[in-house]
Amino acid sequence: MSHGILGDVRGTLFDMDTFAIHDGPGIRLTVYLKGCPLTCAWCHSPESQSPAAQLVLVRDRCVGCGACVAACPQGVHRVTPGAHTLERSRCRTCGACVAACPGGALTIKGYEATAAEVVARAVRMKPFFAHSGGGVTLTGGEVTMQPAFAHAVLAGCRAEGIHTAIETCGACAWPTLERLADVADLILYDIKLVDEAAHRRWTGRSNRRILENATRLAGRNVQVRVPLIPGITDTEENLGAIVALMRSAGLRSVALLPYNEASAAKYEWLDRPYALTAARQTPAQLEALLAIARRAGLDAELG
Ligand code: SF4
Ligand code: SF4
Repeated sequence: MSHGILGDVRGTLFDMDTFAIHDGPGIRLTVYLKGCPLTCAWCHSPESQSPAAQLVLVRDRCVGCGACVAACPQGVHRVTPGAHTLERSRCRTCGACVAACPGGALTIKGYEATAAEVVARAVRMKPFFAHSGGGVTLTGGEVTMQPAFAHAVLAGCRAEGIHTAIETCGACAWPTLERLADVADLILYDIKLVDEAAHRRWTGRSNRRILENATRLAGRNVQVRVPLIPGITDTEENLGAIVALMRSAGLRSVALLPYNEASAAKYEWLDRPYALTAARQTPAQLEALLAIARRAGLDAELG
């Protein structure tokens, strides 16, 4: 099937996972879009936040050979015994150092793709989707930051009979979310904090639109997702407020996502500080948090 003009819409991605199993039912093609309006302190994909391409340096893989220093026309790299520093403001993400590195220590996160290319990839995976009940999930970053591209991919997959899902933080104008929700079979909707001051502190933005948009999604196939950040989002008070909001909005399904401190390493790859020092929740703590949602009659699971 041809996907016409819509298929020519271009988007900026930072990854595609062809056998994802945590982003909706079955085996999924998960497409990670660049750019997010929030800057959550615990973000597990800090490379997703900027809409622009970025150079990533995994220092554990660097052997200090200096090939990147010679390859870079901008003088970004400085390699001395035991240290590799970057003057990132000079980087033009040309990729010359990436190509020169023998250790695979360097990558550029961010590349363009057309909606038609993504749909074609999904079509090639149809046998796996059919066998597992899977499909395509658009996530990020934030899917509503690239609404034309996201809509073209979702509509193109729908036309091919492929199950579609979006994961969104909901921090956008309602018409933008509504248009994508209309071509999504499943909406994974992230809610972090109900208290607005706390939301601003930890994500950089108000939660007003997020909470308003949540109430407008009633009647659709929605799973609310709550990242459990120790001492920030995993308090009884916050969970209780999210549960109350869901009940009043008619949303029935929630997944609690246990904290995973492993993402801290990714911040070092971008020369960014990681603000949290918390340890992951114990099984007993997770059971207690699940119980809050289940006592309220919600369909609750650990993600
Ligand atoms: S991507 Fe290009 S400009 Fe940036 S550090 Fe590498 S070689 Fe230099
Ligand atoms: S080319 Fe790669 S391995 Fe060599 S110094 Fe640069 S980052 Fe390290």
